[in-house]
Amino acid sequence: MSPQRITPKVIVETEYFGSNNSIVVGSEGLVLIDSPHCLSDAKKWRKYAEQFGEIRFVVNSDHHPDHTIGNYVMPGDVVGHTDTRERLLSSEAPSREYLVDLMKRIDPMSVSIFENEYQVRAPNIVFDSKMDIHLGDASVELTHRPGHTRNSVITYFAEDKVIFSGDVVCEAGLPSFQDSKIVDWFDALDAVDCYDYVYVVPGHGEVTDRAGVQRYRELGRQVVTQVAERMDRGHELQQVAEEIRFEDNIHVATDSCAGYSDDMINIFQLRSISRIYQDLQETPDLVSR
Ligand SMILES: [Zn+2]
Repeated sequence: MSPQRITPKVIVETEYFGSNNSIVVGSEGLVLIDSPHCLSDAKKWRKYAEQFGEIRFVVNSDHHPDHTIGNYVMPGDVVGHTDTRERLLSSEAPSREYLVDLMKRIDPMSVSIFENEYQVRAPNIVFDSKMDIHLGDASVELTHRPGHTRNSVITYFAEDKVIFSGDVVCEAGLPSFQDSKIVDWFDALDAVDCYDYVYVVPGHGEVTDRAGVQRYRELGRQVVTQVAERMDRGHELQQVAEEIRFEDNIHVATDSCAGYSDDMINIFQLRSISRIYQDLQETPDLVSR
C-alpha cells in the first residue's frame, strides 16, 4: 500500500490489484471514488481513509467487480448511476460461485466471506445525468458519461483540478470493452478533454495528464483500426475475434496477486474484439475518431 497525496485534498492508491481508489477530503467528511477489488485491501483502505475523517460517500464509476466489491466493507452511502445499481442487483451480476472461484485466485484470505455472508452492496443513492456532493469545504461533481459501460460516471473535483475518470481512461492500458459502446467511449474521451484539469486519476494505472489521455486514445484507435482492416478484407467476426489481441495490463498477475486466469483474460479479449467489430458495423467512421 502506497497512497499518494496528489493535491491538498486528494489521496490516491494505484497499487491494489483491481481499480484505483481515491479519497477527496472535505471538512464534513470524505468522498471515496471506487472501492478495492479484494476485501483484504478494502479493509486496509477503509482503516487508512478513516484517519482523514468520516467516510460519508463511496462513488462507483461503474458496476464492474474491480470497482464495487469493496463497497461491502465500507461505511457511508454508495453513490452511482441508476444502471449501476440495476446491473449489480440483476441476474447479470457475478454469481456467488464465480466470486468464490475468483477470490481463490486473487484474495484467498477472503474466500470464506464469499462462501457465506457476502452480499453485493449496490448504490443506495442513484442519479441519471448529474449530481453534486458537498462536504463542507470540498464539493465533487458526478456526471454520467457512457462509453466504457452504459452507466460509467466521471467525478470532477474542480478546486484541485482533478478528474477521476473511472475506466473511461486507463493509463495501464486498454480495459475490457465487453460492456462498451465504442462510439460513446470516444465521445467520453472528448468530454474529458473539455474539463479544466491538471490530473486524471484513471480507472487503472498511474495518475496522468492530458498527454496521457491522448496516448490512451491512440491505443484504442490502433485496435479499432486493426479490426477495421480485417473487416475490409472480408474476415468474419469469429475469425477477427480470435486473431486480434491487445495487451491486458489490468487483469494479469502482479507481484502480490495471481490475477485472473488466462482463460478469463482470453474471454475478455474475445468479447472486446467482438464488441469493436459489431460497433464498426454500425459506425464505420469509428476509425477516424
Ligand atoms: Zn476497471
